[in-house]
Amino acid sequence: MTEVRNPATGEVVAEVAGTSAGEVDAAIGRAAGAFERWRAVAPGERARLLRRFASVVDAHLEELARLEVRNSGHTIGNARWEAGNVRDVLDYYAGAPERLTGRQIPVPGGLDVTFHEPLGVVGVIVPWNFPMPIAAWGFAPALAAGNTVVLKPAELTPLTALRLAELACEAGLPEDVFTVLPGAGSVVGERFVTHPAVRKICFTGSTEVGTRIMAGCAAQVKRVTLELGGKSANLVFADADLERAAATAPYAVFDNAGQDCCARSRILVQRPVYDRFLELLEPAVRALRVEDPARETAEMGPLISAGQRDRVAGYVDGARVAYTGSCPTGPGWWYPPTVLLAEAPTERHWQEEIFGPVVSVLPFDDEADAVRLANDTEYGLSGSIWTRDVGRAVRVARAVESGNLSVNSHSSVRYWTPFGGMKRSGLGRELGPDALHAFTDVKNVFIATES
Ligand code: NAP
Ligand code: MG
Repeated sequence: MTEVRNPATGEVVAEVAGTSAGEVDAAIGRAAGAFERWRAVAPGERARLLRRFASVVDAHLEELARLEVRNSGHTIGNARWEAGNVRDVLDYYAGAPERLTGRQIPVPGGLDVTFHEPLGVVGVIVPWNFPMPIAAWGFAPALAAGNTVVLKPAELTPLTALRLAELACEAGLPEDVFTVLPGAGSVVGERFVTHPAVRKICFTGSTEVGTRIMAGCAAQVKRVTLELGGKSANLVFADADLERAAATAPYAVFDNAGQDCCARSRILVQRPVYDRFLELLEPAVRALRVEDPARETAEMGPLISAGQRDRVAGYVDGARVAYTGSCPTGPGWWYPPTVLLAEAPTERHWQEEIFGPVVSVLPFDDEADAVRLANDTEYGLSGSIWTRDVGRAVRVARAVESGNLSVNSHSSVRYWTPFGGMKRSGLGRELGPDALHAFTDVKNVFIATES
């Protein structure tokens, strides 16, 4: 039994039994059996079931959101968005089964057609930072393409995934098509990687574990999608709308208490406006409402665990602190929004993913310097560019080695568009129109017309 705690109070909210290795094998066996039936369900019927799943989620949005607040310490506003995102992603991919078309390719001597065949059982491994959306980005397109899914939530945050599995049942998804298996990464997650009936791993989490999963998948040439860490840059040029850039920068890194792989945790400011930007940023950071995440006004909640809080604090020890925001004292794993001044890009807090409410600021000289500093990292997930010069916005967006960039905005995730990382931030893309192809293999069939 693992105790699940409320990060805002430290109180135990549930006890969840971990799935044993034998139970994982049995569940994968059932999912493999269900695959033969699920792939044969007519496309229109599969679409209808996914739409029903979306509407059952919609009918339980508030319940799911409140459960996430208790289990993960997310603000209620964010948690509602997250539950809504599950519904939207299901709705979006419900359109897919009826549109998963292949091609007819002109060849001599016959007819040539391609099919996008489902893979079989897909193993989805989910981290604790966004338990609902990250689960849905894996299971919704996987199911739409005709695969069955076994899903492992993070040990710290299994409750919403377990509830989603019940809602799938209620919506009429056939048994064993979507199975949630709580438990340890070293047991459940590892077995997904080593079990030959699992044909693809869809992993989100640390670069360290992702690297090991990729190596494990190689042994079976198992398909793999990886969404890993980030250390994204927020580039503020001197010609930018400085007020807006400064007012929005805290949300781009402190949202979800900085436990976001897309967090813009490195702010690069062009030298002539560096001091002014820091002046404008200070009131925005101090005004951030860090409080009980169940309150409607909360803008930031606690960190996920005591361990995560210690890790984050370790990066701030000895660093140059410009200023901090506030946070509640007392029980729970709170940490205040913190702005650090980087003296050089070699500093640990500038280089490593902190995954907490800590942002580092560094000045730059010109466009080339900005791009060089932004790219001086093993990661490449997201980033923002603030400038009024359209040409520069396009040049810099093309030059920054990152999968998701936004100009005069901090948006990263929209379910209509592809999401994923360059370099060690990951492999493959989720969401958008192409994600389905990550859950299928192309089959080519030639039919002779000459006798
Ligand atoms: P993690 O260890 O990579 O965990 C992610 C998921 O993988 C969890 O479900 C975990 O299970 C599972 N897992 C762990 N070891 C595994 C293994 N050997 N085989 C298969 N699955 C395994 O991430 P974390 O330790 O929770 O977080 C550490 C750091 O990773 C964070 O501080 C942050 O820097 C980064 N991170 C990034 C993201 C992202 O969105 N890119 C998300 C989370 C964390 P358990 O629940 O049992 O650990
Ligand atoms: Mg770990």
